[in-house]
Amino acid sequence: MTDCYLREFDAKVVGVKGNEVYLDRSAFYPGGGGQPCDTGVLRFGDNIARVVDMKGEAHIIDGPAPKIGDDVRGVIDWERRYKIMRTHTALHIVAGVAYQNYGVKITGNKLYEGYARVDLSFERMSKELAQKIIDESNEVVRRDIPIKIYFITKEEFKNRPELMRVAPHLYEKYDNIRIVDIVGFDVQADGGTHVKSTAEVGKIFLEKYESKCRVHKRIYIRLSEI
Ligand SMILES: [Zn+2]
Repeated sequence: MTDCYLREFDAKVVGVKGNEVYLDRSAFYPGGGGQPCDTGVLRFGDNIARVVDMKGEAHIIDGPAPKIGDDVRGVIDWERRYKIMRTHTALHIVAGVAYQNYGVKITGNKLYEGYARVDLSFERMSKELAQKIIDESNEVVRRDIPIKIYFITKEEFKNRPELMRVAPHLYEKYDNIRIVDIVGFDVQADGGTHVKSTAEVGKIFLEKYESKCRVHKRIYIRLSEI
């Protein structure tokens, strides 16, 4: 939640149910907001179990299971996660450009390792315009803007409706709201993992453009290898 670059951590096992392992703390992203969960390993004693999935707070493992009270070292598959972080930040940049330059909101998205699907409600969209949005997004990447993550109280949040990008009731269960701030460019409430500067995204490519109907358009973006 506060350190997206934490790739290894120590924790205690607080629950085990078949192949589900619960820890007192974890750096594994549980999935959500269009971002897939992390994979990796749990090391304990001489054993290694692979974390193949997350189900809420449960680490779904393949391999030997630890016992309650065991100390484990969690290690995230960093290459995969870092690509997902770059992709998530790229998505915020594309969404920011679409909103600021064209007044268009993203209606849906799905992130993968190095590529993403973005749905927009944008009647006059065309392949050329999609390419223009990506070109303008790459300009934001080149500006090397710092990205800050911090929390604000629910009261502060209620006074800043511009931070709400999904239905307001989805924020209700949180006392503090996590903010992802691409400083001076785009700021929103968000639970995902992000790189610390836009330059880390690398180059964004328009992979595919689809017109689903008169209003709904879909683009796929892909990131350069770095
Ligand atoms: Zn996000």
